[in-house]
Amino acid sequence: MAQDYYQTLGVARDASADDIRKAYRKLARKHHPDLNPGDKAAEDRFKKVQEAYDVLSEPKKKQMYDQVGFYSENGAAAGAGEKGEPHMGFGGFDFSDAFSRGGNARHSSGGNAADFQDIFQQWFGRNQGAPAAAAPQKGTDLEYGLNIDFWQAIKGTQVKLNITRQEACATCGGTGTRAGANTVCPECNGTGNVTQQAGAMKFSLTCPRCDGTGRLRNKCAACAGDGRISTTESVEVRIPPGAQQGSRLRVAGKGNAGTMGAPAGDLYITLRVEPHPLFRREGDDIEISVPVRIDEAGLGAKIEVPTIDGRALLKIPQGTHNGQKFRMREKGVLNSRSGKRGDQIVEALVQAPVVQDERTKELLREYAQLHPEDPRAGIWVQV
Ligand SMILES: [Zn+2]
Ligand SMILES: [Zn+2]
Repeated sequence: MAQDYYQTLGVARDASADDIRKAYRKLARKHHPDLNPGDKAAEDRFKKVQEAYDVLSEPKKKQMYDQVGFYSENGAAAGAGEKGEPHMGFGGFDFSDAFSRGGNARHSSGGNAADFQDIFQQWFGRNQGAPAAAAPQKGTDLEYGLNIDFWQAIKGTQVKLNITRQEACATCGGTGTRAGANTVCPECNGTGNVTQQAGAMKFSLTCPRCDGTGRLRNKCAACAGDGRISTTESVEVRIPPGAQQGSRLRVAGKGNAGTMGAPAGDLYITLRVEPHPLFRREGDDIEISVPVRIDEAGLGAKIEVPTIDGRALLKIPQGTHNGQKFRMREKGVLNSRSGKRGDQIVEALVQAPVVQDERTKELLREYAQLHPEDPRAGIWVQV
């Protein structure tokens, strides 16, 4: 007969987890093989105590034991454990009814089969119906960051990216199964059932090896049955002209492959645009600061300024002051979506001359005599 775990530990059926633990420790010490060298009976008792504690100390196992009178790691093989004794919890109940899997009508005479199925799902978290893996699932999206320089962003470019992604296995076409007929399950010889003999009792169980199908699915060797393999692939990405910092590009179908032929996810690339030492991007506008001499600022001038197209002439008026900004229309970035160009904004940085020669000093003194007015006059009014 199967042991009564509560009896083995010498505790009541409603004993608390704490009581169970205490009882186990006491008995384990008492029957420990180290303390009973050569005592076979003590060793057996020690093993039984261990087994009882293993089940009663774990809520899920304990729940199963309390409900059906035994515990087994594998619900389908229940009662056929190494203990070599049938469990009598059901008193003659035909085990095969309780353990036939969902959707399996071979042993559907037992009215309780559905209930047991529920219990097993609860214990093993396994769906006894269609395996979850059978449903094709769309592949997941991939996110990559990509650094491009200022000019690549403005002019657009093609970039080759090495992407590590899950690809549909070419060997099996994503099915995970090797081509050809599946082999007959050697465990049950293709019947889907195995017979277990325990003492005087014989019972038929769903074959655990093939899940009652009678056949072993030949796993594809290339992908180990997953249907997908991880590969590093070179993906060509076209960056459109005018791409901006933080833009997110989508490359359809270059995410991870789906399972069982379901569509792949997408690849998303987020752009990081490196700054330029001179040009600053402000959306589709370009901003730049350029030095201006005092004679140019004072007299007005046509000055050469850099643009993203090369050099261009900018007319600055008489009396240009430091920090004054000028707009050069449509000298900014071409926006590939609107088809329009932004502007370039030029800031004038009026520079004082570095004077070393006498002649220039003379000229500046002369200038001062001509313009003796206080440039800070406006400030005093406000103080
Ligand atoms: Zn494969
Ligand atoms: Zn089998």
